[in-house]
Amino acid sequence: MTKDVLEQKVLKNHINGEWSEPKEVSDVINPATGETIVQVPLSTKDDVDQAVKAAKKAQKEWALEPAPMRAEILYEVGRIMKERKEHLSELLTMENGKVLEEARGEVQEGIDMAFYMAGEGRRLFGQTTNAELKDKFAMSVRSPIGVVGLITPWNFPIAIATWKSFPAIVAGNAVIWKPATETPIMANELMKIFIEAGLPEGVVNVVFGRGGDVGDAMVNHKDIRVISFTGSGETGSNIAAECGRQLKKVSLEMGGKNAVVVMDDADLDLAADGIVWSAFGTSGQRCTACSRVIVHEDVKEELEKLVLEKMKELKIGDGLKDDIKVGPIINQAGMDKIKKYIQIGKDEGAKLLAGGNELSGKEYEGGLFFEPTVFTDATIDMRISQEEIFGPVVSLIPVKSFEEAIETNNSVEYGLSSSIFTRDVNQVYKAQRDLDTGIVYVNAGTTGAEIHLPFGGTKGTGNGHRDSGVQALDVYTEWKAVYVDYSGKLQRAQIDVD
Ligand code: NAP
Repeated sequence: MTKDVLEQKVLKNHINGEWSEPKEVSDVINPATGETIVQVPLSTKDDVDQAVKAAKKAQKEWALEPAPMRAEILYEVGRIMKERKEHLSELLTMENGKVLEEARGEVQEGIDMAFYMAGEGRRLFGQTTNAELKDKFAMSVRSPIGVVGLITPWNFPIAIATWKSFPAIVAGNAVIWKPATETPIMANELMKIFIEAGLPEGVVNVVFGRGGDVGDAMVNHKDIRVISFTGSGETGSNIAAECGRQLKKVSLEMGGKNAVVVMDDADLDLAADGIVWSAFGTSGQRCTACSRVIVHEDVKEELEKLVLEKMKELKIGDGLKDDIKVGPIINQAGMDKIKKYIQIGKDEGAKLLAGGNELSGKEYEGGLFFEPTVFTDATIDMRISQEEIFGPVVSLIPVKSFEEAIETNNSVEYGLSSSIFTRDVNQVYKAQRDLDTGIVYVNAGTTGAEIHLPFGGTKGTGNGHRDSGVQALDVYTEWKAVYVDYSGKLQRAQIDVD
């Protein structure tokens, strides 16, 4: 089956229920081998205009379909995804590079989201309440917004798409989806699944192409009333500025500078496991990747030893092979950025404990591989402690106390994820209160979100909205207050109350 997709060679946009031949294309490269897998359309504003026209028409009918019936399609989407889990996972590893085990986890996240959001079809709860006047009824209901635009990144090409598209669909919206140009195959596969599951034409439209063309056209289209974006801080804040000017709703999920805090009473072996998994999984290219370890000075040396020991088990290479634990870097720009930060770390005076080099030689030919890297004796004011590197690089920052650990965690512009390893229950509760991030883990690494909880961050990571969880519905619905007066006479609120 994987072969069929690759034999397709050129992907197509899906607009108004039809696959359309692209005029211009670009190569999609497997980052582990350097081989071209397929080609992706480079669409234009005209394609976006066409998609919005189709979506507007489809949305009117779709919104009138009862929500439990809309949800039936998501149940079917989940069933097909489950049936194709292995196929989807292999393709995901090919286009993105993450190792197969992690790709399976990401696809599973999409499956979980399908069943969870399908359940919302029979909830989508509003509130009923009492009116202040006799013979009058009051309630608030969720209403769909219309046509929504989804812009997704390459690092979780299917999970993030499901966090956004499933709540949008079940709430009765139509979708224009622009996936990252680096990873369009998951979008192609998910679109095929929507069709097979019976989604009416025009409800989801996939428009491939570059951010500066397709993404920009979506942000500026007057009939797209919501933009839900996940990606870098710079792109996100530009989008938010433009959406603000147009009074368009915008949901942003952006970068992180996530830390694991290790206290002097922690289970150090467990902490080292958590650090290695969350710093080097997906080659550190997760928004929740651990890129700082804030460690109590009394246990720093022992923790360093344990982390280095566990890193020896990390075999690097093509994620389709069974024993590989760390895959490639997505592209040359990503590799150049990582190398730049290694030099910055050295120049700033952090001590390089392990790694620091791009891998070359026959084993790595064609691919882009970087050694898992550890700096130690970093300080919070260094750029490697403040800026998102988006690679397998972690910096240890020693601290003297719990209070200093919390302050160090919070002294960055981002606020996505944090974690603390301690056996002290008082510290656990203080930490979950004081760590200024949208996600907090206790005695686990910085990664491992579950779909029925809200996903997102504070400060520079976002703008207060959340993906996944029931909270995702807030992005794709408006609250409508409804008053029903059955008194048969004019009753004026606040005036005729006596
Ligand atoms: P990116 O360069 O900002 O791209 C993200 C998406 O935006 C892509 O689809 C991209 O399209 C599109 N885009 C680029 N320029 C645009 C523009 N001017 N107008 C509209 N859309 C535009 O980010 P990335 O490098 O793909 O992703 C990595 C970043 O995402 C990291 O910072 C990571 O932390 C963050 N992230 C955050 C979360 C979270 O939930 N907080 C989750 C995952 C990733 P093209 O790729 O086709 O140009």
